Amino acid sequence: MASTTNAFEMAQAQFDHVAELLQLDPEVREILRWPLREFQFRIPVRMDDGTLRVFQGFRVQHNDARGPNKGGIRFHPAETIDTVRALATWMTWKCAVVDIPLGGGKGGVIVDSATLSTNEKERLVRGYVQQMWKNIGPRQDVPAPDVGTSPQMMGWMMDEYSKLTGQYTPGVITGKPVGGGGSLGRTEATGFGVIYTVREALKYLKLDPKNCTAAIQGFGNVAQYAAIGFNQFLGGKVVCVSYWDREDRIPYTVSKADGIDPHFLMSITDQYGSIDKTRAKEAGYVIEDAEAWISKEVDVLIPSALEGQINVESVHKIHPRVKVIAEGANGPTTPEADKVIEEKGIFMIPDFLCNAGGVTVSYFEGVQNDMNFYWSKEEVIEKEDQKMTSAFLAVLEMSLKEKVYMRDAAYMVAIARVVKAMGLRGWI
Ligand code: GLU
Repeated sequence: MASTTNAFEMAQAQFDHVAELLQLDPEVREILRWPLREFQFRIPVRMDDGTLRVFQGFRVQHNDARGPNKGGIRFHPAETIDTVRALATWMTWKCAVVDIPLGGGKGGVIVDSATLSTNEKERLVRGYVQQMWKNIGPRQDVPAPDVGTSPQMMGWMMDEYSKLTGQYTPGVITGKPVGGGGSLGRTEATGFGVIYTVREALKYLKLDPKNCTAAIQGFGNVAQYAAIGFNQFLGGKVVCVSYWDREDRIPYTVSKADGIDPHFLMSITDQYGSIDKTRAKEAGYVIEDAEAWISKEVDVLIPSALEGQINVESVHKIHPRVKVIAEGANGPTTPEADKVIEEKGIFMIPDFLCNAGGVTVSYFEGVQNDMNFYWSKEEVIEKEDQKMTSAFLAVLEMSLKEKVYMRDAAYMVAIARVVKAMGLRGWI
């Protein structure tokens, strides 16, 4: 596979590799290698100080053969059309692998959320909808939160869309706040979903989760609930997380050899995801450099920050004890690093399977919005666990049957489903 850190080239390289294994028809490859539709637009926003700033926005719709496009909107200073294309492509595979009737999409804005006031955020997300409302909707494309965006922002976007169309339309967007059209269990969904797949992987490897330790990269929404789930559901111990420090403008790892307390760390995390170092140290935590998480002597690594974190250099720092890598983030492992992990025989739970719990509960949110009838949290969590477990087992079965790496097996399951839908619709 070509050496690359461009996320979209990475997504295409992964697809090409499996297309080859599947001997996929070249015409079908032409459709799936690229998004079907892309939007790039400018969003003028009046800032609190009276000046006007113009932001660059994106929305990419990769494939909607199986249902409306689905995927988050990411606010990130380094966003590019290629990162959004990659993330949209992975959403197609993600929805297909958990077998929910949705396609793949993703949005982005080039901005550092932490530099905006609450009012500026509201004007920016409303501006995003003003540019995109004709091309999103419950039957077209349904956005959701991602890095840098929040449930409150989804609530404003739903409101803007409903005003523009003149119809209350909660199903236009998911990840909304509970009480404002959101689903119970959506906040926890991605992180808990990661842990359901880890539970199944440990079962397959015949490892007792109570004796297992984990190192987590990140401390955003996914990492926080993955840490809670690892403790609560599996009885295991998480020895570190990492975060981006707002004051020092660099990332750090926060460790505690006898196990971190995610609830305590959440209580000292500000709204931008920055942990209070002083209070952490007072409570016995050690602050280490950003890379420390990857070389920890643990059983499970859970990269839950951004793409490209396990790469050709960092992959060699992985401790020989590591048995499972569970990709909470989208695209955390580069294709070159993937090769090394496969050779080392570490069990990989690939991103679009591992972190599919979020979009699974987003799908449940859309279903509840359509019915205008809401489920209990227990019902949501139980249905999510069922979906994640059966997706994991389908991929494991494919991997064992075809004797392929778990990522390739996940692609095989997902691609087959999308190709089938395209065929049934007469596209190919
Ligand atoms: N942004 C999340 C993801 O990457 C959730 C997407 C959604 O709920 O639509 O899976």
